[in-house]
Amino acid sequence: MPIITEEMVIARLSRVKGPDLKGDIVSLGLVNGILVREDRVIFSVNVPAERAQELEPLRAAAEKAVMMIDGVSKVTAVLTAERTAGSPSIQSAPIRPAPSAAQAASVPPPMQAQAARAQAEQPNQKAGVPGIRSIVAVASGKGGVGKSTTSVNLALALQGLGKKVGILDADIYGPSMPRLLGISDRPTANGRVLSPLESYGLKVMSMGFLVDEETPMIWRGPMVISALTQMLREVAWGELDLLIVDMPPGTGDAQLTMAQQVPLAGAVIVSTPQDIALIDARKGLNMFRKVDVPILGIIENMSTFICPKCGERSDIFGHGGARDEAGRMGVPFLGEIPLHMDIRSHSDGGTPVTISMPDGPHAAIYKEIAAAVINRVDIESASVGAGAPSIVFE
Ligand code: ADP
Repeated sequence: MPIITEEMVIARLSRVKGPDLKGDIVSLGLVNGILVREDRVIFSVNVPAERAQELEPLRAAAEKAVMMIDGVSKVTAVLTAERTAGSPSIQSAPIRPAPSAAQAASVPPPMQAQAARAQAEQPNQKAGVPGIRSIVAVASGKGGVGKSTTSVNLALALQGLGKKVGILDADIYGPSMPRLLGISDRPTANGRVLSPLESYGLKVMSMGFLVDEETPMIWRGPMVISALTQMLREVAWGELDLLIVDMPPGTGDAQLTMAQQVPLAGAVIVSTPQDIALIDARKGLNMFRKVDVPILGIIENMSTFICPKCGERSDIFGHGGARDEAGRMGVPFLGEIPLHMDIRSHSDGGTPVTISMPDGPHAAIYKEIAAAVINRVDIESASVGAGAPSIVFE
């Protein structure tokens, strides 16, 4: 098989004209993150967020150009956008399926949304992942509630309880695992399969290893699914007791499809205590219920503020809201994590508090939550083993 190099990809891409047919996408500095895995090529093209829809043909042309290289069998080009000050967050951008180059100009948005829904309603392909015993999703109805911080500390606490654990950063809109786990390497390819990176004993895979974390991405529905499927199934995870999936925030079509297609043992919902976050948490919970994924429980994050100087507690975002909501929704409450400077600084510094302060009060809380999660996974798997109804789609 011919060997494909990054230079060959660049050479082809330098023939693709830039936006408005000015220059080419390579000399304009728009191409990033080229990854060649044997006969597959992945790269991103940076475009202004507001022009993403309109520049879909450029993405398709770039893909086509690389496809022409002898020996290339699959090309994935994604459009990325620099976030400019004051521009809306990519996380709130609508997710739509990628129209073909010819369709791009003519398909009206409602039809695209319909197509995404149709895809979400396809029968599931929930084949298990060899070597992984249980996959647990950590989700939130909205961003910024501490879902990723909780995922990492939960994964490490599970490991502390003797489990072999991996973490899949499926939050492709804002992958944060490279930062939270202090990883700056790139995964290596072994044949068709990527080797996960390792940090503090966890096996880790994140889109952030392939694309710059500073560059928010614009993903369309089908791309989300194919990227996630690859990150789940084409990675040498080895033997794992638990794989924690840090889900993208929100409850759109892409999230729903992911919930359907990943063979989940259950979902953990992270929420802050205040009403507005709980409304979103309820949506997240209902999304999993809709596709018959067991809810393992709710975690209240940023539950109570503990002053690092005097130790005084204040309920900045209220307190106990998630516990009450869990009761109302009839799902277990897994525990509450305070809002504390140590959690934030260690998390953002790439040394999660569960590892850096293993004997501290926060590590103890994550450990208790981890024990509750193990317990819930065991209960849910036992009930599936006992012949619970198979998955039913509306
Ligand atoms: P999400 O994944 O929901 O977007 P993150 O995990 O990235 O949220 O957290 C958002 C910010 O809040 C980060 O700066 C993180 O360090 C901080 N954070 C999360 N949980 C806590 C906590 N319990 N105490 C203090 N800071 C927290």
